[in-house]
Amino acid sequence: MSPPRVSLGAHMSVAGGTPLAPERGAAFRCTAIQVFTKNGNQWGEREVSREEGEAFRASMARHGVEAVLSHDSYLINLAAPGVDLRKKSLRSFLAEVRRCAALGIPSLVFHPGAHVGEGEAAGIRRVAAGLRETLRRTEGLPVALAIETTAGQGSSLGHTFEHLRDLIDGAGAGPRLGICFDTCHVHASGRDLSTEEGVARCFEDFDRIVGLGRLRAFHLNDCKKPAGSRVDRHEHIGRGTIGLAGFRALARDRRFAPLPKVLETPKGPDPVSKREWDAVNLERLRRLGMR
Ligand code: FE
Ligand code: FE
Ligand code: ZN
Repeated sequence: MSPPRVSLGAHMSVAGGTPLAPERGAAFRCTAIQVFTKNGNQWGEREVSREEGEAFRASMARHGVEAVLSHDSYLINLAAPGVDLRKKSLRSFLAEVRRCAALGIPSLVFHPGAHVGEGEAAGIRRVAAGLRETLRRTEGLPVALAIETTAGQGSSLGHTFEHLRDLIDGAGAGPRLGICFDTCHVHASGRDLSTEEGVARCFEDFDRIVGLGRLRAFHLNDCKKPAGSRVDRHEHIGRGTIGLAGFRALARDRRFAPLPKVLETPKGPDPVSKREWDAVNLERLRRLGMR
């Protein structure tokens, strides 16, 4: 019997080059990582050379990192009411997909965007149109577009399962459309994940409205603010309003075992234990049986 597949890790920095991220992940025994493929706070694009693509894949293999996600730039807003920003966003999003393909990254996680006063229905139509165009212009590339669940801050879209369904349907419901489930965001959006019952109810609803088959990945973050606050502040695992019981319930659900799961919790050393927070948080998840 082959050992159970483990797909657990954390977001890793690409400072100094993308091939360094798997190495950084391996230091925490990550079998999954998430990366930015450029500076996420700037518009400037870059292309991934063949050499970089090969070096990144080789680094993944060498360090035993099996799964990798990319997260798109924070500036992209496919829902922007202004044509200029929407065009710029689309161009940037296309470049994100192409960099993923060049690096062999099978899932691009992205935030659907913010409607900025135009209303949710209008915003969803714009994002769906942008996704359709992106899929068309990158046809054949083995990169899934994984819509991230959001907390619902401001006018951001994607904080209800109905939004996710409408985005997928509006974009043509093809196989390259998926979901990245961020635990902090869903909890903050109003679905309490702090109990086993809450987690069970959440995924029953998700399955009915979106379909569990759309799940591509998880962001495992505890939440600083209460369920329903719609405020997006990540907390260390077990120290927030989701707490260990919620993560234990997630860990016990074997349907999620094969999916990549990454932390996006604050980095740096824990002032008490002096250990890196990623090590502390991953250890907590592993103790709960998270795979
Ligand atoms: Fe995100
Ligand atoms: Fe996230
Ligand atoms: Zn967040």
